[in-house]
Amino acid sequence: MIVIGGGPAGSTAATLLARRGRSVVLLEKDRHPRFHIGESLLPMNLPILERLGVLEATGRIGVLKRGADFPAATPEGYNVFRFERALDDSGKHAYQVRRDEFDQLLFENAAAAGARSFQGHRVLKAELAGDRVVVEGQSDAGRGFCCRARYLVDASGRDTFLGNQLRSKRKSPHHQSAALFAHFSGVERRPGEDAGNVSIYRFDQGWVWLIPLRDGIMSIGAVCWPDHLKGRRSGNREFLLETLQSIPELSRRMEQAQIVGNLHATGNYSYECREMCGPRWIMAGDSYAFVDPIFSSGVFLAMHAAEQAADVVDGALRDPRRERALQRGYERGIRRGLSTLSWFIHRFTSPSMRRLFADPRNVLGVEQAMISMLSGDVYRDNGVRWRLEVFKMIYRIASLGDLRAQARSRRLRRQQARAVFSGGTTGQDAA
Ligand SMILES: Cc1cc2nc3c(=O)[nH]c(=O)nc-3n(C[C@H](O)[C@H](O)[C@H](O)COP(=O)(O)OP(=O)(O)OC[C@H]3O[C@@H](n4cnc5c(N)ncnc54)[C@H](O)[C@@H]3O)c2cc1C
Repeated sequence: MIVIGGGPAGSTAATLLARRGRSVVLLEKDRHPRFHIGESLLPMNLPILERLGVLEATGRIGVLKRGADFPAATPEGYNVFRFERALDDSGKHAYQVRRDEFDQLLFENAAAAGARSFQGHRVLKAELAGDRVVVEGQSDAGRGFCCRARYLVDASGRDTFLGNQLRSKRKSPHHQSAALFAHFSGVERRPGEDAGNVSIYRFDQGWVWLIPLRDGIMSIGAVCWPDHLKGRRSGNREFLLETLQSIPELSRRMEQAQIVGNLHATGNYSYECREMCGPRWIMAGDSYAFVDPIFSSGVFLAMHAAEQAADVVDGALRDPRRERALQRGYERGIRRGLSTLSWFIHRFTSPSMRRLFADPRNVLGVEQAMISMLSGDVYRDNGVRWRLEVFKMIYRIASLGDLRAQARSRRLRRQQARAVFSGGTTGQDAA
């Protein structure tokens, strides 16, 4: 079969299918190592990395991440959600990684498993021809290529190759923003065991991530609502620095900070494709949907989907009569995880959610279930799901007491949705 995209989803699917003896062609338009956003992994990623045989290698290139911190009225000014407090076996830690290194590791692992892997090969067209899928493209040396296979896995990420070709991509009008981000040196880390944790800050027009990487580097990004970006009077670099300095505790941590390398900008809208699979094709990872990076879930969701997609492809090739049933099971599972996360993500900036995150109560293990959700434990029936339903009830009650603030936040969201986002989807400024 053919896999489009050598990111986490594509390399995972290619590795697993090649190990099952399938003939796999993996096509990546860029060349590794290449920059990519999405550096913070979740604990539920680790079992997948173990199954792929790259867990130890990931540990060597990564920074140990024991949890995430969010702003709170504590003496420290933040509240740490440590993964070790998660329910059940949702995982105790994760890693922060540079994606150029991580994606190269996964891509080489796919090749080592037997996938015929091509870099600098961009797919331009895919179509069904009888019982085969035919893919055409061009290499970065300018040579055309054509491959035929019995199945196609689209793991093309936010390029949404098939979603575009089938015109099935739907952007969410309620969740549009853009991110500016860069690597910095000289940023203060959290003390002791929390030094590798991701920090999240909010400001009126968005939120900020801090991801500690190796060699004293901190990845810092500001996700901004369209109004905030539209109002900018300076270039991206000054604008990012001004935005970061507007948050007092962050400004203090950044007193000695220097940008290292390039500043990047990317559209951060959420989208979903109408279909996830069809006869002889399946999407995995961002090629199907992207919600939001606030909980650092993208890489885990992509790799989880790729594992499941590999099962579907293998099963459908063994017994083509089961293809639709296998695909339906896949769609149900993927949508269930996405909708669990989306519920929290879409309310994350509401006043009630801010309060509940700042001062969590562990009634019936609800706080632990929240930590499991933050670990990526959104697919299993292990006591997390019903506790998240209890959390939703608590949230709704808290929201009732906050109607005025809610109305204001809804008004703001409507204004944001109406505002025309003026940036491109991706771009790069020299720092
Ligand atoms: C601002 C921001 C911050 C984020 N932060 C995090 C985070 O901290 N943690 C996290 O887990 N996730 C994060 N994410 C999400 C994360 O980047 C993605 O969810 C993840 O990379 C998805 O993996 P994927 O394999 O589906 O796609 P990708 O990683 O994008 O891989 C797709 C690959 O396909 C290749 N490709 C595309 N089109 C073609 C073609 N036509 N032919 C051949 N190859 C092609 C691309 O070059 C790419 O290598 C963030 C996203 C954004 C926008």
